[in-house]
Amino acid sequence: MQILKTIHEDYLRSLMFGLQDGIVSTTGVVIGISTGVENKAIIILAAFVAIAVEATSMAAGQYSSEKAVHQMDKTGRHTDSLVLGAIIMFFAYLLGGAFPILPIIFFPQEIFRIIAIISAFFGLFLIGYLKGQLVEHRPLRSAIELFIIGSVATIVGVVVGYLFRV
Ligand SMILES: [Zn+2]
Repeated sequence: MQILKTIHEDYLRSLMFGLQDGIVSTTGVVIGISTGVENKAIIILAAFVAIAVEATSMAAGQYSSEKAVHQMDKTGRHTDSLVLGAIIMFFAYLLGGAFPILPIIFFPQEIFRIIAIISAFFGLFLIGYLKGQLVEHRPLRSAIELFIIGSVATIVGVVVGYLFRV
């Protein structure tokens, strides 16, 4: 954790954003698809396509938006690399997406949805806790906060998936 404290704060934003969005979006996609599709291979394929496209899109978005901020910035505070920020976003998104995707791969059809959701909630809690440790601000509170924020978004994804199932 000590080494992480020396990194530029903009990388921390990429990391947090990527992890959280990777978990929340991928859970919504995975559950949404799995309500309408029985074939496990298709669910996994669709999840991998979604996560690859999203991670790339998020990395591109990170690059462009951070570039705009850097161009606006006159304080010289932004010494962070745009490319590295985008790379961190990409891998953080993939890592976040692993929380709901791995249960789909390793558990049987009947239970994988509920385990994917539990895994996603656990991931949000864990990331919130580690973030709290890193910034030295009430880890448990950070964990619960991220858990609640992420869970609300995850539940919206799951509910919409059920409503529009085919
Ligand atoms: Zn920056």
